[in-house]
Amino acid sequence: MEVDEKKDNTQSKLNFLSWEDAKNEAKKYLQDFTLKEKISLMYGSALNPMKRCVGQIEPIAYGFFNKKVKFAGIKFGDGPTGPRFQKGLTNSWPAPINLASTFNRELIYEVGKAQGYDFYHIGINVALTPCINLCRVPQGGRIFEGYGENPFLTGELCVELIKGIQSNGVIACAKHFIGNEQEKYRIASNSIIDERTLMEIYAEPFYKAIKKGDVGCIMCSYNAVNGTLLFKNKLMKEILKEKFGFNGFIISDWYAVNDDSPDSVNNGLDINMPGTINKLPVISNSLINPSFWSKLPNYVEQNLIKEEKINEAAERIISTMFKFDQIKYFPKNEYYSQNFITEESKKLNRKVAAESNILLKNENNILPIDLKKIEEQNKKYKIALLGIDAFKGNFYGQEPSFSNYITSSKIKADGHLTNGYGSGTTTYNYVVVPYDGIKSKINNCKNIELVPYAKLDKEENEDIETSKKISETCDLVLIFVHSISGEGCLRIANSYGDRSDLDVLHNGNKLIEEISQINQNVIVVINSPGPVNMDWKDKVKGIIFGGLAGPESGNGIADVLFGDVNPSGHLPFVIGKKEQYPSEIKGIQEYDLLGSLKNFKVVEFKDTVKYDEGLFIGQYWFDKKDEIPTYYFGYGLSYTQFEFSDLICNYDKNLKKLTAKFKVKNIGNYDGSTVAFLYLTFPSEVENYPVRVLKGFDKYLLKINEIKECSIDVEEHDLSYYDINSKDYILPKKGNYKIFVGQNSNIKDLTLIQEVSIE
Ligand code: BGC
Repeated sequence: MEVDEKKDNTQSKLNFLSWEDAKNEAKKYLQDFTLKEKISLMYGSALNPMKRCVGQIEPIAYGFFNKKVKFAGIKFGDGPTGPRFQKGLTNSWPAPINLASTFNRELIYEVGKAQGYDFYHIGINVALTPCINLCRVPQGGRIFEGYGENPFLTGELCVELIKGIQSNGVIACAKHFIGNEQEKYRIASNSIIDERTLMEIYAEPFYKAIKKGDVGCIMCSYNAVNGTLLFKNKLMKEILKEKFGFNGFIISDWYAVNDDSPDSVNNGLDINMPGTINKLPVISNSLINPSFWSKLPNYVEQNLIKEEKINEAAERIISTMFKFDQIKYFPKNEYYSQNFITEESKKLNRKVAAESNILLKNENNILPIDLKKIEEQNKKYKIALLGIDAFKGNFYGQEPSFSNYITSSKIKADGHLTNGYGSGTTTYNYVVVPYDGIKSKINNCKNIELVPYAKLDKEENEDIETSKKISETCDLVLIFVHSISGEGCLRIANSYGDRSDLDVLHNGNKLIEEISQINQNVIVVINSPGPVNMDWKDKVKGIIFGGLAGPESGNGIADVLFGDVNPSGHLPFVIGKKEQYPSEIKGIQEYDLLGSLKNFKVVEFKDTVKYDEGLFIGQYWFDKKDEIPTYYFGYGLSYTQFEFSDLICNYDKNLKKLTAKFKVKNIGNYDGSTVAFLYLTFPSEVENYPVRVLKGFDKYLLKINEIKECSIDVEEHDLSYYDINSKDYILPKKGNYKIFVGQNSNIKDLTLIQEVSIE
């Protein structure tokens, strides 16, 4: 088959195939491929490491002058917040942790679709997203790239992103399989995870990505699980391909292929990325230093790897491309002059930014700030805007320049944060900071004066004294604080990936404490990848957790502060103090860029990460230990109130499905959205299980006084538990499920309760 270089393949004309048809097409297509050609599909060349993509499989072409393309190649590009390394050409999006806090499946699908549009038109076949590792430890550097702590939530939400991306002809890549929940020694750590925990908690999002999302690609992680590095670990084959029936292909994380053991291919790895054995990206390219995977023909000859394994890998790769209609035509650079950042994409970005804000506290209904009412009072009203995070700085979570990678320890978090750092970032086209967003709201108010101030001293601490003076004379004080984390390849604001503690930066806690002593009307906005300490929580009137909200962050928060958008975000993790969590990351890895590159080859494990808490991740641990968190998983207020009632549950024995029907009423004074959480306590035969597990949620928009009849289904898999004897997900044989429905995970708010027998 020849590649059609000029085909006008607008995405509406994409011809998606079933896996069966795609496999048949792939078989035919590969008929005239030699063994060597098939092997060449299985490793990348880092010829284009940091331009528009982060790795590629070389095209196969014939002829000298009049080249005929036999295979057009594959381009892989990061990542979770939109296409990386695009010099601002394409859209950047809020961090996935913010997508998660919307709890809005449709919205996440829309973001996936919009991202897919951009990836497609700049010629990225495989988008290296979603990241579905869990927020096991709140310090974990890459928690902003994921969907929070809960396996069910992560599984359900990543499916929407995957479907959205793939609907536009781009293959999504779920990463990093598996046990990769910290940055400290991520390439040389060994996660010790028992089988039950692995299958119930950490494999669960991958299960959903495959079964419900039909994901085309999965990336294995750097770390080892139970003593074997993932790139050659049989878990790839056994869990993903055999147990979950994964049809797509598995790629390695970048440079994760650590030795030339045939176990990699034999245990399920299909592609070695970026494909060169040399660990220095700057000098690696396929000519100077061919991947040792080019030795695969010898391995086949020596029967170390069976030829069927090569055929299988080639078929997996090509059939996935057929499935998403990438074989006949895929764009290269013909759309580079297109305007990707449109009014529509900005609007969607702003909607997500606003909807991802989580209102944690609203004493005396201090929010929303009612501009009309203030104006009508006809007297001066002063709003102080404090904290470096409200303003533009040099670093707001964008892709650092290459030289900054080397000197990244000098990068300061000196402005509003909209993303974490590492491969989950993009080069922004623009960023609206809170100051811009807030100012545009009050521009036409004649009685309102905004008093903006923030300054960092030499130690990078906020100037508390001046801030206090300003606050004395103001009617309302808005304080923005932040913390940052990222991928363990950079060091920013003293965090080398993981956060060393959960405090906000720049002495922000002290700033809040001191201001709240002199002004009664303090509202705090937190921009952070995850939980922070809030010892000041009782001293302020309002708290919003803003996460890392992308380029429209400033507009999003302003929409919520001034009531144009009624907040409806909920926490995708429990917020507690560091010592309340079952584990912590002790002793942050030293920052040593050259050393870490030299040590890229793992000769011994430098850290053993024991997943001793087992199934009790996040809120499940707090429930088990009766720990009262600062804020429960799922917590999030609205400017209106909702009443849940009339729960009726049924278990359908034939369909093996549980249905919960209930009513939700908006009983407050604003239109707004609420999230219903469905928890199950499993029958007692399931031992040592979390007290209650999240197995359903949905979001509903209700007008004032509106009543909605709601219904949530729980399917067989979600009613099952992993049984280590039969090595499968099975339904309990007898007993009752206890069903809880309510507005977050706190038992006090799970007001609807019913028991259902499954016998
Ligand atoms: C990260 C991956 C990323 C890859 C390519 C790795 O260091 O762990 O998430 O997709 O680099 O940039």
